[in-house]
Amino acid sequence: MIEEFPECALCSFPPDGRLCRTSGGGGPPSCPTRDRELVSEVMEVYADPDLAEFARQASIQEAEGYEGRGPGNSAPRPSKPRILEIAEFAERMKFSRLGLVFCVGLMREAEKVCSFLSGRGFQVVSVVCKAGRVPKEELGILDSEKIQPGSPEAMCNPLLQAAACNRAETEFNIVMGLCVGHDSIFLRHSKAYCTVLAAKDRPTGHNPLAAVYTLDSYYRYMKEN
Ligand code: SF4
Repeated sequence: MIEEFPECALCSFPPDGRLCRTSGGGGPPSCPTRDRELVSEVMEVYADPDLAEFARQASIQEAEGYEGRGPGNSAPRPSKPRILEIAEFAERMKFSRLGLVFCVGLMREAEKVCSFLSGRGFQVVSVVCKAGRVPKEELGILDSEKIQPGSPEAMCNPLLQAAACNRAETEFNIVMGLCVGHDSIFLRHSKAYCTVLAAKDRPTGHNPLAAVYTLDSYYRYMKEN
């Protein structure tokens, strides 16, 4: 068991005085920036030319998500929605075939995303979560454990979504609204790098941070057990 592990989320150093922000800054003993061996080990991995280019382009995309950058401007304006960032990043990487894996509850949105990306010149391989129409019983799910007991229900099949994208040799996969856990399976089994356009969060219209922002008010009941 590792005794000490990073706890950046609980860092007690002021933001501008943190070691990860400034060379004279401080950090607790478990600070991952202090672990120079780990930092060097990781930087060696970036020597892989494909990974290096992926990381370089992601960093350029990150900066280009702001307008008004320049010396002296400490508050550049964020300017691009994520769907545009994804398209631009894929263009930078010269990808031509993208995967779009989505939840059946977001069918209309998937069509819009697909047509937006096609309009920018990409081929889009899209696979819905229910593809394969395999009954949930195959996973050992009881009738009482279905969304609508008493009716046939197909399992979400992220492995099939990954296999279909892998077979179509997609170069970059976009995840839209897959359930918690189903997304994990897809992310682990996709051969191509993935990005998430939307994380499923049914009651907030897929804005999971809404519940985080209101964790001390409307959603405080969640802290009670
Ligand atoms: S100073 Fe260290 S522990 Fe604190 S946030 Fe930065 S990396 Fe994490």
